[in-house]
Amino acid sequence: MTTEDHQPRRKHITRSLLIAAGGLFITAAALAVVKPSAPPEPVYEAHRTLDLRPLDEPVAAADEAPFITETRIRRGDTVAAVLQRLGVDEDGLLPFLIQNKGARSIYKLYPGRVLQAALDDAGSLVWLRYAHTPGTRDKADYVSRWLEVRPDGQGGFEAAEHSMPAQAQLRMAEGDIDSSLFGAADEADIPDAVTMDMIEILGSRIDFLKDLRKGDRFRIVYDAYMHDGEQVGTGRIRALEFINRGKTYSAVWFRTADGNGGYYDFNGASLKGAFLRTAIKFTRISSRFGMRMHPVHKRWAGHKGVDYAAPTGTPIHATADGTVQFIGRQNGYGNVIILKNFGKYSTVYAHQSRFAKGLKKGDRVQQGQLIGYVGSTGWATGPHLHYEFRINNRPVDPLAVDLPVARTLGPEDRKAFASVAAQYRGHIDFLARIQDMQDDATQVAQR
Ligand SMILES: [Zn+2]
Repeated sequence: MTTEDHQPRRKHITRSLLIAAGGLFITAAALAVVKPSAPPEPVYEAHRTLDLRPLDEPVAAADEAPFITETRIRRGDTVAAVLQRLGVDEDGLLPFLIQNKGARSIYKLYPGRVLQAALDDAGSLVWLRYAHTPGTRDKADYVSRWLEVRPDGQGGFEAAEHSMPAQAQLRMAEGDIDSSLFGAADEADIPDAVTMDMIEILGSRIDFLKDLRKGDRFRIVYDAYMHDGEQVGTGRIRALEFINRGKTYSAVWFRTADGNGGYYDFNGASLKGAFLRTAIKFTRISSRFGMRMHPVHKRWAGHKGVDYAAPTGTPIHATADGTVQFIGRQNGYGNVIILKNFGKYSTVYAHQSRFAKGLKKGDRVQQGQLIGYVGSTGWATGPHLHYEFRINNRPVDPLAVDLPVARTLGPEDRKAFASVAAQYRGHIDFLARIQDMQDDATQVAQR
């Protein structure tokens, strides 16, 4: 016994698929959609993940209701019409639903939401459920609420509200950038909140306003909260790969043993809020921050930075992600680069012999990127890097202040990270393989 609406609802999601916490949900049937003869518009099936049975109900209780019917509320629906579609014909039920305060959530029939009824062999009602609130944020959890009405065993009915946390799932999606990131995300059925997070996570690596190009791609694994096969909320991005102008950027969420969570690339390098201790790999400090006799002017003056002695031509690396605020010659500094890093931080690299090829004002640089070479231009007695660390444009001693230092993983964290990263790497690679298959199918179709 079914109603016209009893067909399991399938949500077709283009280029996005679901994986349950335990494993991949994709099936061979779903993959078979990619046929060379048809235009390659692959559709994956999102699986229903939750029925409305309360968690505290024993599994055996399912036997009491051999038939479950389901319908979706339509615009202008009435309770009577809904009951009719569900095949529910109980004396006194309609008046009960209209009059009983405990059942008042059924007064509001939201189009698109779902009602289910369980009927026994004789067609009598076992329960009626209305999922009026498929998922709302309740502190950290998404909670789904529904009304349940049952016969009270004395010829009447009883109504009660139930709730349970929406089921957390990992969701994977991928997108191709055609005109805009948000356009690509929409096409992949990725909510705006997740897209915004993606921008924030990789914002220090990619300038999402200027750097995006047609043909850029991303693959993403994130927490989704599902209710009855529908995404009712999203949580954290777990892993992300973004191919921008042929360059691949990655991010993995990882919580260290001491409880600090953050994003790292697949190699375990922290993505955020960090400075390398030095801009030169092999060096010694030749002059510290503070008062000293100036080597050129031969008078006492405050030294605004730290000098690192190194041979002319030694590579200089950006100590953190940033934008080139100044590149050129300044009186005492000689050839100098000033990087605007994030927030209130900026860094200065002076006395360079030459700059990295092509580097210009406004360019974005990454932590560790080669920006220039040690020299002795400006007021310098010999080749060294004069490095300044500025907070709100005021030089501070980078060796003394509590710098936001690049988080590095300890041995045990590294082990745990490797296993987390490998898991997500697998998901991302899986998406990449699907995409390759689609690309192949496109080529065959166009031949
Ligand atoms: Zn100096």
